[in-house]
Amino acid sequence: MKRIKKLIFLTFLVMTVVPAFSQDATFHFFPRYAAYLRNTDMQLKGSFYYKANTDRKIVALTFDDGPSAHTERLTALLKRKECPAAFFLVGQMMTGNRNRLQFYNDSLFEVGAHSYFHFNSNGAANANTIKNDFQRSMNAFSSLMPDHTVKYYRPPYGIVHRNVIDQMEAHNLQGVLWSFDTMDYLRPRPTRQKAINDINSHLSNGDIILAHEGINLNLLEEMIDTIRNNGFTIVKLSELMEYPNIIPF
Ligand SMILES: [Zn+2]
Repeated sequence: MKRIKKLIFLTFLVMTVVPAFSQDATFHFFPRYAAYLRNTDMQLKGSFYYKANTDRKIVALTFDDGPSAHTERLTALLKRKECPAAFFLVGQMMTGNRNRLQFYNDSLFEVGAHSYFHFNSNGAANANTIKNDFQRSMNAFSSLMPDHTVKYYRPPYGIVHRNVIDQMEAHNLQGVLWSFDTMDYLRPRPTRQKAINDINSHLSNGDIILAHEGINLNLLEEMIDTIRNNGFTIVKLSELMEYPNIIPF
């Protein structure tokens, strides 16, 4: 887990090469990630799903970087709240936490792939490395979670790379990013007040919410209540993705 946290933190180092821009109204991104996407070819970023174009007040919750020491308590909370969620799992975490994979077995939950080694495609864009990573990730699912169908892929750090897209296509995976970032990976973490304010002022129809398994569970519960008190229904990612996609910028 330490390693993954360190890798998440690396995101910011990766993103520091681009200047910050202001947020687009319909997307709530970390500013440097917004800048990264603005500067990314439509051919690349257009291969990913971000947000549903819908009049319905629906959103989907996603959690990256599991399975982890948090999975049991996180999934228990979500079940108690009857809250659907999608989990983007890291292959090496799956092999290292086999006994925790059972916690994803619930009709509320869906699982997607989030690489095997949480590679950084900006740093190691080698086509063969990425090809092997996809193969190992898919093997982890077929051997450890044979009852789950993996349809979705979220690239580490949200980096959209030609070699990643080629592999998504080869494995018949739909790329999924996000439109509302809880920024729960920042250190220090965003304050409770900021997290709740962000939902009250920026959450909108069709959003895919990005969070991580290590999110503070008291805060998550309050976030779920706030989302619902604002009139939104939290639906499964697959239900949300039945609507057309909105590609940012
Ligand atoms: Zn990740």
